[in-house]
Amino acid sequence: MFPAKFAYAAPTSLQEALGLLNDPEAKIIAGGHSLLPLMKLRLAQPSLLVDIGRIPGLSYVRREDGVLAIGAMTTYRQIEQSSEVHQAAPVLAEATHEVGDPQVRAKGTLAGALAHADPAGDLPAVALALGGVVKAVGSSGERELDLDSFFVDMLTTALQEKEIIREVRLRVQPAGAGAAYQKFDQPASHYALTGVCAVVTLSGGSIATARIGVTGVGPKAYRPTAVEQALAGKPAEEEAVKAAVQTVADGIDVQGDIHASPEYRAHLARVLTRRAVLEAAQRAR
Ligand SMILES: Cc1cc2nc3c(=O)[nH]c(=O)nc-3n(C[C@H](O)[C@H](O)[C@H](O)COP(=O)(O)OP(=O)(O)OC[C@H]3O[C@@H](n4cnc5c(N)ncnc54)[C@H](O)[C@@H]3O)c2cc1C
Repeated sequence: MFPAKFAYAAPTSLQEALGLLNDPEAKIIAGGHSLLPLMKLRLAQPSLLVDIGRIPGLSYVRREDGVLAIGAMTTYRQIEQSSEVHQAAPVLAEATHEVGDPQVRAKGTLAGALAHADPAGDLPAVALALGGVVKAVGSSGERELDLDSFFVDMLTTALQEKEIIREVRLRVQPAGAGAAYQKFDQPASHYALTGVCAVVTLSGGSIATARIGVTGVGPKAYRPTAVEQALAGKPAEEEAVKAAVQTVADGIDVQGDIHASPEYRAHLARVLTRRAVLEAAQRAR
């Protein structure tokens, strides 16, 4: 299928890009691996694509004071191969490797994935479990958006219309923490039917803290904070963890489609949360 007719611009600075985005029908394109499929289906029909891929200096991974700073045009492939990521947040490299196929990972970007907020995207769950902020520029300057309140609804974030993510800043895994990403994927697209990321610290044989990000279950990725609290102080053992994660899909508008019913997705959420927490605890040991 072909998209509707559109104009294309390749600005060479963020300022120029922001100017082009004054066109109410304009849309940012980064890797294009979410936007172009939508355009081919005519679910999006921008009259102008503003390609931020020609703006210099947006493609990097840097470690800065307990944070991984990742530029807007950094691809999944660069993240997978980054030694900084492998040292500071190996779970990010591990989960990135789970996205799509090598072609998707060669073009798709972390910033694009977060901005797109696909309810089945892998990286929103990891970003929530690690925690951090998104740095975005708009006509009124630059601001930081906390990832905890970034995902608002299906395909909807706290970004304002026409704001550009310049950088994603994810906290490095705390000293002594273990982290794991567990995914049950749709075999054709590799999108997550359900995916769970857990970052766990231990105190003795018990869980001291757990941060969890869940994707594929509700209309947006979320942190099951009641489960995180229930895990604190519990032994890092099968039965205790299994009991603590039972409410992981409670209060969530669990989605159903041709691939999985809401009941099955809620079941997957419980199983994968248990596995992710136990694997993370094992790695922390
Ligand atoms: C065959 C296939 C399989 C896939 N499998 C998976 C999978 O298993 N798991 C998974 O998580 N994803 C999967 N994806 C989606 C893929 O990860 C996308 O590349 C990614 O979600 C979007 O990144 P992008 O750079 O391509 O964004 P684009 O498609 O360029 O943009 C997506 C949206 O974000 C906006 N945007 C992009 N960059 C910015 C920015 N810097 N600031 C503000 N807004 C921005 C765009 O305007 C657009 O609305 C798959 C895609 C395909 C085609």
